Amino acid sequence: MSIAEELRKVLGDQATIITDTAVLPSYSRDQSQIAKNGTPAAVLLAKNESEIAAALKFAHANAIPVVARGAGSGLSGGANAVDGSIVISLEKMNRIIEIDPTNLIARVEPGVINLELDKEVSQFSLAYLPDPASREWSTIGGNVATNAGGMCCVKYGVTSHHVRAIRMVTADGNVVALGSALKKSVTNLDLLHLIVGSEGTLGIITEITVALAVRPKPATTLIATFASIEEAMRAVPELVALAPSMLEVVDATTLRAVEEWKPLGFEGVGTVLLMQSDESPDICAKGVQIAEKHGAIDATYSDDPKDSADLIQVRKLAYPALERKGAALLDDVCVPISQISNLVTAVEKIASESGLLIGIFGHAGDGNMHPTIVYDHGDADAEFKAVAAFNQIIKVAQDLGGTASGEHGIGSIKVESALRESGEKIIELQRAIKKVFDPKGILNPGKKIP
Ligand SMILES: Cc1cc2nc3c(=O)[nH]c(=O)nc-3n(C[C@H](O)[C@H](O)[C@H](O)COP(=O)(O)OP(=O)(O)OC[C@H]3O[C@@H](n4cnc5c(N)ncnc54)[C@H](O)[C@@H]3O)c2cc1C
Repeated sequence: MSIAEELRKVLGDQATIITDTAVLPSYSRDQSQIAKNGTPAAVLLAKNESEIAAALKFAHANAIPVVARGAGSGLSGGANAVDGSIVISLEKMNRIIEIDPTNLIARVEPGVINLELDKEVSQFSLAYLPDPASREWSTIGGNVATNAGGMCCVKYGVTSHHVRAIRMVTADGNVVALGSALKKSVTNLDLLHLIVGSEGTLGIITEITVALAVRPKPATTLIATFASIEEAMRAVPELVALAPSMLEVVDATTLRAVEEWKPLGFEGVGTVLLMQSDESPDICAKGVQIAEKHGAIDATYSDDPKDSADLIQVRKLAYPALERKGAALLDDVCVPISQISNLVTAVEKIASESGLLIGIFGHAGDGNMHPTIVYDHGDADAEFKAVAAFNQIIKVAQDLGGTASGEHGIGSIKVESALRESGEKIIELQRAIKKVFDPKGILNPGKKIP
């Protein structure tokens, strides 16, 4: 019997198992341009935790690889299928189980779309704060598995700061509950935060309890233009001290790409800084003074929601403006904020030496930058150079005291970089932990842990 037939026998006729070779490719890879993928033996569109537990018991007994999948919006090959694997898609487990406004928590299945939860809790004047740019289509399960970030991290932290508890199926098909719905509990080792960011390598998350916040006020937005990245970055530490709810940077190369496409008046500008505050317009007024002190050509702010939306347009257009010029390879390094201008200068050098177009934009408030390498579609030589530049940028970031991935995860494309960054003892510990959770190594093999 094939793996799919055996799985059908284990799960029964009500299980949705896909084997159609025309459909399998759409469950075989995420949004990474460069990650390789295999062909799964079957895709299970899981309906509940029991199906996942039974599927994992079967996979464990037969040493079959299993890849968990949310929306497949990842950018590091994390959800890419392995040959002969069972892909378990969580997309159908998309129920908001409970919203508890008294205790400021919600319980959700992993396939709930991030923005859907935020919309639902807004009825109670509450918010689910983690805001990856993919929040309209990525799942909370995927966000937890990658410890996703976003623009509001500078003030509110990453996904892990908003996860209280999970239910998870282990590699051998047992169900465990980790963490606590309570705001405080130090009874056990913090296994919850070992799972957050583990990219499907330690278990499959089947339920998540998240913390909700009182809905922040509409933001006031500041925009400041500078002649150079160095001047802009000199303003950043003082702007961070104002506790902004967003602090973003767009470099000259990206601004040129935006201007070529949708002119917004940034002709000849060296760098743009954007800041938002959800506290008071006074914070942005102070931000203007700080930007001017550090040589801003122009700095202004608005608390009108429409103006705010217009001002952040340039950041929203950053990636699509680069992407329309060719195939775009988005990197995700994070460096100390004091090193952002050094990173930008080093990336400019890599761009001029390789002849590639590389624009940089990202989260100035926490150092998480997205150098985006553009090359010609279908040009194998250019793709080779782009991949080399991608890895070179990671190396530069690591040498500046930074890390290979701030929010998109290691997946399959940064395993070598993770090896370089994490000393021998850390690798040994991570491998030992993996063995405890997944002794046969069936969960997302070849991903995350070198
Ligand atoms: C245009 C665009 C913008 C983006 N912006 C951001 C951003 O601002 N911040 C950011 O952090 N990321 C961003 N991303 C990357 C991506 O959206 C995030 O990594 C997101 O968290 C992935 O969620 P997903 O549901 O698509 O998961 P998938 O891509 O399906 O999976 C991601 C990883 O999580 C694992 N996984 C998924 N579900 C589970 C589960 N239930 N249990 C265990 N493991 C699981 C998978 O095996 C895989 O390793 C962006 C992507 C795109 C395309």
